[in-house]
Amino acid sequence: MPINKASLLVLESFVRQREGKGGRKLRLIFLGPPGSGKGTQASRLSQRFGIPQISTGDILREAVANKTEMGIKAKESMDNGELVSDDVIIGIICDRIVQTDCENGFILDGFPRTIVQAESFDKMIGEKNIPIDIVLSLDVSEEMVVRRLCGRTVCKECKTNYHLEFNPPKKKGVCSNCGGKLYHRPDDEEDVVRRRLKIYKETTEPLIGYYQQKGLLSVIDGTNEIENIFKQLVGVLEGI
Ligand code: AMP
Repeated sequence: MPINKASLLVLESFVRQREGKGGRKLRLIFLGPPGSGKGTQASRLSQRFGIPQISTGDILREAVANKTEMGIKAKESMDNGELVSDDVIIGIICDRIVQTDCENGFILDGFPRTIVQAESFDKMIGEKNIPIDIVLSLDVSEEMVVRRLCGRTVCKECKTNYHLEFNPPKKKGVCSNCGGKLYHRPDDEEDVVRRRLKIYKETTEPLIGYYQQKGLLSVIDGTNEIENIFKQLVGVLEGI
């Protein structure tokens, strides 16, 4: 019997999913200070496992660029390296994780960032019966974070990250991936980076203990080469 194009697409997507993670759903949280490489790794894992990367930072930056009500309210906190209110963030996640592309799982990049967010999220996923499989924490020193962020540029279009020294684009100021324009985030200026790190230590780092207690935490050395970290992460995810 001949296979039509629609059936072939379904079959291909099924094979891709099984190749990626044995056909199981995969829901994971990325923890780590700003500049630990969460975004870079989340983007690669998203492609590898065919599940969306949900970056609350990207969602907020888009809202700021589009001058939506939420964006206008969030802009000042973001520019100053401070956190946006828990209510706004929880609302974003609540809407996002029920979209159809999240049916096979998702990667949370930059959420939760406070204990209040984590507790609300636990309630939310408990009610929806969509448990988290693993929490990955990327471990890097404060000085490395400052070096990484101060030299970081980001593509305006596809959000790929570069670094002037460690991971430069082929052509200065131009994304090697999509040809988009690269820019330096205002919150990657050194004084703002140091403020973001202070807030991370005080408010977000306690989440490591929170998820450790739940038996969900896996800590990965974030100082290695991007490719080595990626291989290690894939190994951990395929093993769960
Ligand atoms: P990021 O791109 O993850 O570094 O986020 C950029 C900025 O967006 C942060 O410095 C915060 O101002 C805001 N933001 C992103 N995610 C959250 C969150 N989960 N809770 C509060 N603020 C957030």
